[in-house]
Amino acid sequence: MKQETTFRRGKSSPRVDYHCHISMKEYADIDHPTIVTVSKEEFISDLDAAGFDKAVVLSDSRTTPERVAEFVKQAPDRFIGFGYVNPVRRDAAESVLEQKDELGLFGLKLYPTTDGYRPDDYRAFKTYEAAVSLDMPIMLHHAGMPEPHDLLKHSDPAQIDAVASCFPKLRIILAHLGYPRVDETLYVLRKHKNVWADVSWPYGDVNHPSYRFMLWRDLLTALNLGVMDKLVFGTDYPGVRQKFYKELLVSVNKYAPHEDLKIPKEKLEAITSDNIKPLLP
Ligand SMILES: [Zn+2]
Repeated sequence: MKQETTFRRGKSSPRVDYHCHISMKEYADIDHPTIVTVSKEEFISDLDAAGFDKAVVLSDSRTTPERVAEFVKQAPDRFIGFGYVNPVRRDAAESVLEQKDELGLFGLKLYPTTDGYRPDDYRAFKTYEAAVSLDMPIMLHHAGMPEPHDLLKHSDPAQIDAVASCFPKLRIILAHLGYPRVDETLYVLRKHKNVWADVSWPYGDVNHPSYRFMLWRDLLTALNLGVMDKLVFGTDYPGVRQKFYKELLVSVNKYAPHEDLKIPKEKLEAITSDNIKPLLP
């Protein structure tokens, strides 16, 4: 049925992919990760093909905030730039200010697992204070990583619970639904007004179609906890394209074995647009 894959949304809400890269390591073949890079033209054509208005472009240690700022400047009406810091470094808070003022970046991306620190490390608090005072949302990579040295102890939702409790005004977005600690991550969303999660690609076995069932299962947990409106759409582009993932998201109810286990369609639709409003410039 064609209408299954069509989204409706509030007139004033743009449709946004809140989790994209311009160059990333892609793990579809876990033993041979590859680097995927996109041009502005390819990126915009993918957004258009999926009917998306805007995309958040994330920095990391390899794709620097300077490079992301340059990229975003090519189409500022389509791209929203996020910088990057390692918040336990001495110069982090200063760098946050520069990324906002000099590079014009809107938010920040942190990688506690890759950079090897706990999000509730007190040394990171200066970065959180700076982000609050500059009104910058912070996205954390909040999931396992297939690299053996990227430790799961650095993506524990209990640490985010502590940060959100110390910084209630800090807008926090937890990437990848906190996989594999999805239930706890969703509970943190329930507790804290300013914590969201993006539904971008979790790092399970994406070569087996059962990951689609797992997305439905996790969304059902979000529905049960009353946090569907705290979920924002993300793909981990260019690893995953918007059109494919949007269609997958809106068709998850095919896994529901009973009427009571279906996710209301308007709540699935809101993930790509209305839910994202509090996180836009
Ligand atoms: Zn990502």
